[in-house]
Amino acid sequence: MKPFASSADLDVKEQTLEVLADGVYALTAQGDPNVGAVEGDDFVVCFEALATPVAAADWLAGLREHTDKPVKYLVLSHYHAVRVLGASAFEANVIIAHENTRALIAERGRQDWESEYGRMPRLFRDPESIPGLTWPHVTFGSRLTIDLGSRGPLHLEYLGRGHTEGDIVAWLPEQRVLFAGDLVESQAALYTGDAFHRDWATGTLDRLAALDAHTLVGGRGAVARGPQEVAAAVAQTRHFLDTMRTEVGAVHAAGGTLKEAFTNTHGVLEPRYGAWPIFEHCLPFNVSRLWDELDGVERPHIWTAARDRAVWEQLQS
Ligand SMILES: [Zn+2]
Repeated sequence: MKPFASSADLDVKEQTLEVLADGVYALTAQGDPNVGAVEGDDFVVCFEALATPVAAADWLAGLREHTDKPVKYLVLSHYHAVRVLGASAFEANVIIAHENTRALIAERGRQDWESEYGRMPRLFRDPESIPGLTWPHVTFGSRLTIDLGSRGPLHLEYLGRGHTEGDIVAWLPEQRVLFAGDLVESQAALYTGDAFHRDWATGTLDRLAALDAHTLVGGRGAVARGPQEVAAAVAQTRHFLDTMRTEVGAVHAAGGTLKEAFTNTHGVLEPRYGAWPIFEHCLPFNVSRLWDELDGVERPHIWTAARDRAVWEQLQS
C-alpha cells in the first residue's frame, strides 16, 4: 500500500514572497498552500491563514519586510484546517468568511482538523500552538467590499459551490489580481473530497473566468501571470474536474464499483497530473466524494481520521 495521503511527504518546501502589484503580495511554496496580502492606506488585509500560528508567523515575518501596517482583516477562503488554524498569529481585528464556511466549521471543523493533521502532518508545524477552531467575526452571502483607499476596492465574492460549499475569492478589479483559493490550482492537483463537482466545473468556474483576471493566485502552485497563464490555470482545473466526471460517471452509469472508478480515473489523469503536488494523496478522497455525488448524496459526508484510512485502504492498496 502507498504511504497514507501526504504522511510520507516530509521535504521542506521553499517559500517565495512575490510582489504582484503595489501593495499586493503572494506567498507560494512549491505546491504547499498559498497565502496573500493586500495593503490598504493604513491597514493590511490577509488572505488565508496556514495550518498553525507558528507556520503563519514565518509568512508574517516576510510580509513585515514590506509593510508594518496592522492586519485589520483576515479573509478565510473556506473552512479547511490547513487554511484557517493559523489565524491567531495575525491578530486581526476582523476575521471574514462566507456564511456557509461558518456553518461548516460548526458542523465539521473539529473532524476536519483531525483529518487534515493525519493527511498532511508536515504542514502542522508546532500543532500545540493552535488555540482552537477559528471562528469568523463577519460572514456574508454574495459579496462584501473592503475599501482600500488609494488602491481601490477589494471585492470578496461567492461564485457558487465548488471546492467546498462556501469558497470565496478576493478580487482586485483595478489591479486585475484574483486570489482564487482552492477553486483554482495552477500546476497542482485538485482536492475535491468536499466538492460539488458539477457546480464547480460549470457555473462557478464560468463566473470566476468572467472576472477576467490578469494575475491569479490559486490555492496551491505557482502564480499565474498574464491572461494566458490565468486561462491555462482555469482550464487545467476544469479539465481535471471534467475528466473525473467523465471517468467516474461512466463506471457509475454502467453499474461498476468505486474501486473500478478509481482505477480508471487514476489511469487517465496520471500521465498528465501524476507528478503534481498531492495527486496521489487526493485522488481516493476525490473519487469517493464524486461517487457519492452521482449517488445523489447532496452534501459531502464528513471526513474523519478513521474514514480517511478506510477509503485509503480500499482504493490505494
Ligand atoms: Zn481546501
